[in-house]
Amino acid sequence: MNVARPRRPRLVAGNWKMNKTVPEAEALARALVERAAQRPAAQVLLCPPFTALGAVRGLLAQSPLMLGAQNLHPEASGSYTGEVSGPMLITAGCRWVIVGHSERRQLLGEDDALVARKLRAALRAELTPIVCVGETLAERERDETVKVLERQVGIAFEGLDRAAACASVIAYEPVWAIGTGRVATAAQAVSAHRRIRATLDRVIGAGIGGDVTILYGGSVSPSNAAELFAEHEIDGALVGGASLDAGSFWSIVEAA
Ligand code: PEP
Repeated sequence: MNVARPRRPRLVAGNWKMNKTVPEAEALARALVERAAQRPAAQVLLCPPFTALGAVRGLLAQSPLMLGAQNLHPEASGSYTGEVSGPMLITAGCRWVIVGHSERRQLLGEDDALVARKLRAALRAELTPIVCVGETLAERERDETVKVLERQVGIAFEGLDRAAACASVIAYEPVWAIGTGRVATAAQAVSAHRRIRATLDRVIGAGIGGDVTILYGGSVSPSNAAELFAEHEIDGALVGGASLDAGSFWSIVEAA
């Protein structure tokens, strides 16, 4: 018998990156809270910079919008000047954290092993990690997309169990699509998501891949969101640039 798989929950996450002072973050959060009064169908997550977490937390209190951070350190505490840990994020009101964003991999030297440690640190702290994976343009042009995704997902998830995988979210973010205005086609995203699910099946166990929420990220905008979200494989989006404006972010939320 062919039983239809229930849909995975939809999630739209805004990665504000190193943007928004505290007053600017408050203004954006207020505008989004107002829109969220209509109760969006998708889960909506805001990831402001660390400095604005406290202020945004207060504004989200009575709304369905959720709070996350953009990074964490793999250790819980210690002499790591300038770093922030999972337990600190939990007490700052976060329930989510982005791990292994390509900007951190490329500009700050995070490798697959460090991303794997951060993923485990997030799970230990009971934060939901959003693990970012994706190939560079050079890797795509060398036809290495599959190899890169299998390596990044394999190293991050190897040794974790079914519960840990299902408590995680993955964001497929082709590096060439981030902040460039060049969005992946729905077919490219679907094919990458399928490869990620197959890798989870291989490293953790058969059938796991189909249970894990996988977002697409890379130049998602109000004009392309509906086409991406029409794909069963795409469970939502991690949004950078378009999340900095309440109107454009909310249009994406409404498309989900
Ligand atoms: C991101 O940085 O995660 C991202 C997807 O950025 P943008 O939407 O601006 O491409």
